Amino acid sequence: MRVLTWHGNANFTLDNVPKPRLTDDGEQKFSNVTPSLPQKWSIPKAKKSVLVKIDTVGVCGTDVHITQGLFPSTPPKVLGHEGSGVIVEVGKSVDPSRIGERVALNTTSHCGICNACRTWSFSRCASAEATSGMFAEYAIAPSQSAVTIPDRLDLEHAALTEPAACCLSGAEMMNVEECDLGVVVGGGIMGLFTLAFLKKRGVKTMVMSEPVKARREIAAQFGADLLHDPLSSELEEFINDHTNGHGADIAAEVVGKPQLVKKCISVVRPRGQVLMVGVSPKGSAIPSDLYDLHYREITLKGAFGRGNVFDRTPEAIADLDFTGIISGRYDLKDARQAIIDSGEAKGIKFVVKPSGYP
Ligand SMILES: [Zn+2]
Ligand SMILES: [Zn+2]
Repeated sequence: MRVLTWHGNANFTLDNVPKPRLTDDGEQKFSNVTPSLPQKWSIPKAKKSVLVKIDTVGVCGTDVHITQGLFPSTPPKVLGHEGSGVIVEVGKSVDPSRIGERVALNTTSHCGICNACRTWSFSRCASAEATSGMFAEYAIAPSQSAVTIPDRLDLEHAALTEPAACCLSGAEMMNVEECDLGVVVGGGIMGLFTLAFLKKRGVKTMVMSEPVKARREIAAQFGADLLHDPLSSELEEFINDHTNGHGADIAAEVVGKPQLVKKCISVVRPRGQVLMVGVSPKGSAIPSDLYDLHYREITLKGAFGRGNVFDRTPEAIADLDFTGIISGRYDLKDARQAIIDSGEAKGIKFVVKPSGYP
């Protein structure tokens, strides 16, 4: 099978390796297809795994950061962690009727009993098993991590399950009772999903604040009621105008800039909630007046990972209007270009088709 191996910086090779097999001896035979995740996660046991023919893999900001040296990762390895495909083989402890299932792949499994699983998040499980890197024709995943998708969700959009799960997990951290107005700052794929899920949970009016017109238009498709262009007016004024000076109930920062976290804090009402989905640079501080946070009793929450919601996410995204979301499709041999184009923020989501794209 074809596999794209990352060798550090922006260097990749397209390699031909034997198609992995789920052998009966409990050991994996896919040393060339190393997981794209930190080494503390182990390789899954073959008998509890499934082999998936990959249909689509999304290019993630993390992939971009890895090739730019901004996110720690050790080559050589196979990147790609936002994948979908069809189960073609199962280990001997897995129900053979799973063969043929259309699935979204979680990057890690969870045990459900460790401290991280019980008090933090399944996605932080201390004894997780990793799915192999998905910039490859086939990937091996623990059966638990191959989540069946609804019939009405196509495989291409099912590859968005992983980023969507991070947003669903974050949106579910918010108390949405009697929330009249929420605002999302940043209309990339994560901002769009965060907006859709807050709206779906019951926030009456959702605002998208985003400078790129095409992204604002997709936000409307995803449920935005009001669109704000930060290049033509201040968000504070816009929110004040639409809330009689009261402020937003919820503000989500989905860019990763401390100054925008500050802006979110400034536009929420007393006892308002701010969600940080964007990845602010390591070492950065909140550039806000802490007296103001204290006095107005603001809640500030971080949202990093998939939480416990991955299994529910394909259903949660199945009815979204995805028109215009996929900005580019690339064959596996061109995945390097997909990562470069994705890093230039030219579109919404770039995807790689390891099994070939006509
Ligand atoms: Zn990702
Ligand atoms: Zn665990």
